[in-house]
Amino acid sequence: MARVYNFSAGPAVLPVEVLEEAAAEMLDYRGCGMSVMEMSHRSKTFQTILDEAEADIRDLIGIPDNYKVLFLQGGASQQFAMIPMNLMKNHVADYIVTGQWAKKAWQEASKYGTANKIASSEDQTFSYIPDCSDLPISENADYVYICENNTIYGTKFKTLPNTKGKPLVADVSSCFLSEPVDITKYALMYGGVQKNIGPAGVVIVIIREDLITDDVFPGTPTMLKYKTHADAGSLYNTPPAYGIYICGKVFKWLKRQGGLEAIQKINQEKAAILYDFLDESTLFKGTVRRQDRSLMNVPFVTGSDELDAKFVKEAKEHGLENLKGHRSVGGMRASIYNAMPIEGVRCLVEFMKKFEMENGSHV
Ligand SMILES: *Cc1c(COP(=O)(O)O)cnc(C)c1O
Repeated sequence: MARVYNFSAGPAVLPVEVLEEAAAEMLDYRGCGMSVMEMSHRSKTFQTILDEAEADIRDLIGIPDNYKVLFLQGGASQQFAMIPMNLMKNHVADYIVTGQWAKKAWQEASKYGTANKIASSEDQTFSYIPDCSDLPISENADYVYICENNTIYGTKFKTLPNTKGKPLVADVSSCFLSEPVDITKYALMYGGVQKNIGPAGVVIVIIREDLITDDVFPGTPTMLKYKTHADAGSLYNTPPAYGIYICGKVFKWLKRQGGLEAIQKINQEKAAILYDFLDESTLFKGTVRRQDRSLMNVPFVTGSDELDAKFVKEAKEHGLENLKGHRSVGGMRASIYNAMPIEGVRCLVEFMKKFEMENGSHV
């Protein structure tokens, strides 16, 4: 078996321990004589898996009782519609556009009401987070929306925007469970799990109970109402059962690492290795304003498309995979999620040093 260091932005690396456990339980889950993907989602066995997953994520984040945790499908992208359909009671919402995902969410929301773009960093290719301390928040805004960690551009909100009392909605797909969060500052937090938690096919929505109502956009499908899923404990219909099972294992793995504070320390250490090198490199350059740098997604360039391509190719030959930047921005991007071991980052930096020596400084 040869595992590579996988720097993919998503679907992304998972902890080896989790994959090994899943492999060991594949044919016979704890004496059931069947795998988790073959069992009824109404069975007691699966209910226990679901209950434990919910209890563990509640524990990790510290989610109070007045928030629901929903395990849904449709990816993060489906939330771009579900959020306005459920939350836009006044048909007004304010969006902070810090990248493609926030932009898509903003565009989708405009189908259901007035979606105001109150700040943007598009003027500098989304390479920074705008000052959000005193934005023109709409008086009748139903919520203020952010994408907290911008997977493609490698920026992260280090302070949450001042929403002037309006509910905050955040897409945390690529920073989910990477550091401690105060969930009470959010009305709704959601993320596709395929970045930092589990396999594609599950999206987790953490939503304050008072926002779950029947007062939704006219014609909203049953499946797109938060209330449908909240009332049914995420079992209105067949949930993404196997994906939830793997997420549950990742939650337990995170607890064994020491929880979110411990994983944050490790993530900071990993990111520092890479950023410190980028800051002193004569060939590679980070593309993000220093104070807005993400701990999870690290984009960098050489300044030459040719050298970038050569780097990605040679890195792959060294077992360092998926370092190509997003198709919309080019260059390189190393996604160093929770499950990326620190040795993987060290190995990447060693390879970058070698590449720099061989290819000289390039301006
Ligand atoms: C990947 C990503 C999405 C899109 O996720 P899908 O599950 O493919 O819809 C949305 N937001 C962010 C921040 C992402 O990283």
